[in-house]
Amino acid sequence: MKAAMLYEYDPAVNINLKLEEVKPPEITAPDEVIVRVGAAGLCRTDLHIIEGIWKPTMDPEGHLLPYIMGHENAGWVEDVGSGVKSVKPGDAVICHPFRSCGVCLNCRHGEDMHCEAGSFPGLGMNGGFAEYFVTSERSLIKLKKGIVPLEVAPLADAGITAYRVAKKAARLLRPGGYCVLLGIGGLGHISLQSLHAISGCRIIAIDKEPAAQKLAKELGADVVLDGGPNVIEEVREITGGGAHVVIDFVGELGLENLCWKMVRKGGQLFVVGYGGKIEMPTIQLVIEEINIGGSLVGNYTELVELMELNADGKVKMHYTEYNLADINTAIDDFKHRRFTGRGVIVP
Ligand SMILES: [Zn+2]
Ligand SMILES: [Zn+2]
Repeated sequence: MKAAMLYEYDPAVNINLKLEEVKPPEITAPDEVIVRVGAAGLCRTDLHIIEGIWKPTMDPEGHLLPYIMGHENAGWVEDVGSGVKSVKPGDAVICHPFRSCGVCLNCRHGEDMHCEAGSFPGLGMNGGFAEYFVTSERSLIKLKKGIVPLEVAPLADAGITAYRVAKKAARLLRPGGYCVLLGIGGLGHISLQSLHAISGCRIIAIDKEPAAQKLAKELGADVVLDGGPNVIEEVREITGGGAHVVIDFVGELGLENLCWKMVRKGGQLFVVGYGGKIEMPTIQLVIEEINIGGSLVGNYTELVELMELNADGKVKMHYTEYNLADINTAIDDFKHRRFTGRGVIVP
């Protein structure tokens, strides 16, 4: 099969993935499923993997490469292990990115992402930048009639990450409350739509790219800001003292230290993008009673809920399609933000 292989790390993300003919995956356990990839979303995490910031956790010995990235996958079931009952070859599916075990206590609580014995195809093991990849039956959600893998693949990760944090935010937001979304990219534009669907809050979208600002307006953001030097004052002015919730989809490049300054007293900052370091005086944390927390991907049932919103037309993925042969162009375009929404790789 055709696959895009990562051979080396590069902090500047200038290296190319190598397109190669490799042996297709085989079923090695009764619960495994081989998926013919219909589309795979290109994620900032893929750039971070190339940069090497995951190397200490994922590849401490340095023996992992080469392998195939790609963790936002949808496609069709190609083959199933002997124990698989809920899907059959030919079924169109979206793949929850995490292969959770199903039997640990965290799994039984429903939090797949906290599974003690899970694995993540595309992160440290072969994923979907190829014609086929292998996952487990537990990860699959069958697509409803008329839903095409290409149009939903990034919902598998970008989508649920954006939806999970929107759901957490919605619990804290009353109608009239303000939510700031910093970064209207692959995740931000899904959170915006999700918040509209599940909350009565007002949304302030911040992005320096005109195309992203335009998308935010089209998707119904109440206020769109360009993130200029006065952005903190602007937000504090519009919201009358700070937003009730701020969601940071960037988490690096210095923006991580703008976000907590936009939160009102008693408000909440959720960090989703990563790579930077938050620095704030502890006294500020105390006197403002600001809450800061992270949000990680999402669980299986959250992906089910998101697919329902998608089927009802309430949350749509905006994407640009690239052939697998052009994956290095896609990565370069992503680095330079030449597309809005998500880049999607089609083998
Ligand atoms: Zn991702
Ligand atoms: Zn588990």
